[in-house]
Amino acid sequence: MNSFSLAARLLNMKVTIRERSLVAWVASQVLAEKQVAIVTGSTIHLWNTSRAAFLENRSWVLHELTHVHQFRKYGWLKFVFLYLAESVKKGYFNNRFEVEARLSENREAHVYDVEFV
Ligand SMILES: [Zn+2]
Repeated sequence: MNSFSLAARLLNMKVTIRERSLVAWVASQVLAEKQVAIVTGSTIHLWNTSRAAFLENRSWVLHELTHVHQFRKYGWLKFVFLYLAESVKKGYFNNRFEVEARLSENREAHVYDVEFV
């Protein structure tokens, strides 16, 4: 698999970007979406988009970094449980974690805390 990793510092934490990720491919099949970015912990998995194209899309980066924050805030197990529970109750769009991530898409200030190295 031709994966590419990018380390970034997010408030003293490294964020890895992985292209052509199997995890993102599975999500693309489940969601029936052509392009997918999905976060697990502090890794952003991409399918059908490049690292460069993803990073050029500021609102998309801010959206996914919000999910990284959510993983950190609640911890892996709790976040995955809460996220799935929200999805079952309210669906993807109204899931409060997705609502929060969408609200962050225009908050440029968040990006200044991130240093991609
Ligand atoms: Zn999202």
